[in-house]
Amino acid sequence: MVDPVKKPDLNEQELRAQEEAQRATLGQHLKIVDDWIANMQDPVLGPVGAAFRAASARIIHHEGLDFGMSPSAVYHSFRYPAAPGQTSFSNDVLYGTEALDSRERLLGARTHEFIHALQYDTAAALHADPFNEASDIIVSPYDYILRKERLEQDAYVKGAWLCSLAVDDAPGVVAAMKGTPLPIDTFQDIRAKSGSLQEAFTAAARDTRNLLGTWRKNAPPSVIADEWHARALEEYARIIKMRLDAGDKLTFVRLAGEDILEIGDAFGPNTFGSNAADPTLTVIENLSPENAKKLAEINALLGIADRDRLPALDDALQAKGVTRAAYLDISKKHVGPARNDSSNSPAVEGSTAFNPSAPRPPAP
Ligand SMILES: [Zn+2]
Repeated sequence: MVDPVKKPDLNEQELRAQEEAQRATLGQHLKIVDDWIANMQDPVLGPVGAAFRAASARIIHHEGLDFGMSPSAVYHSFRYPAAPGQTSFSNDVLYGTEALDSRERLLGARTHEFIHALQYDTAAALHADPFNEASDIIVSPYDYILRKERLEQDAYVKGAWLCSLAVDDAPGVVAAMKGTPLPIDTFQDIRAKSGSLQEAFTAAARDTRNLLGTWRKNAPPSVIADEWHARALEEYARIIKMRLDAGDKLTFVRLAGEDILEIGDAFGPNTFGSNAADPTLTVIENLSPENAKKLAEINALLGIADRDRLPALDDALQAKGVTRAAYLDISKKHVGPARNDSSNSPAVEGSTAFNPSAPRPPAP
């Protein structure tokens, strides 16, 4: 007779053994991917792989597997609320088991997520985040959407650039990255036609927005930027309700050109150029009617009638008497306080996925 108690234990053991084996595989694959990265040589800039490796090793403290995750990879930014003694800045990269199927795909996922980590290490705008309990300065809903678009543009452009430098070592990476918002061969074509790498980045960033796909069940095909905007709005609506329910007094701010340039400055040439006064930096080019409607609803809920009249992030920091550097430092070190309420609602996490978990988009 089968013992009904022991059977789950056995399954549990088998599961653990399988997870151990998958972790070991990830470790082996990451070693190879790391060698590919270390070897990357840009024809103009030289040994950028070594620089990328050094910059990311300094800031990323954890890479692991998430066994229940469908995207290839996710960068976790902040957790809300932070448990007592735990930093609210998560700053880790997790891979889905799908990323174990191909080392070339792991290279694509890793470079993309590491760019996100470098952005969050550098840009004050990314810490003015509703998921970050260390900050009561929060970007407005419009700026949250804008920020999402810019940080994805930057990560896809620089990910494609870095992967293009690994093609000799890992020729399969070109096929592995087909169907992503910026395939490697598309980036190579754009670079070949551009006067400089920086010019290529700016052109490629525009291209990245326009990948057509069916991102949600029963939805018509649309550009991926629409999906970034929709996800940003959903995240924002969910977390801002939690912040307001917690009684947090929030200052909503708008981003300026300098904030966007800071996002593009995390590694390599700046994807967004060098002119902080360029008005297009802070304009969302196409907002779908559905997303515009959702944005108006959230703005109404928060009493934001005119985003242009909000203080700029820089004004809000100055009003508090903190420099950008100090603001970033305080935010990264913040840990959750001891809480005496016994509510143990699970924390929610701000994150950016490499492969949107929508029903079968064109696979990155
Ligand atoms: Zn991303």
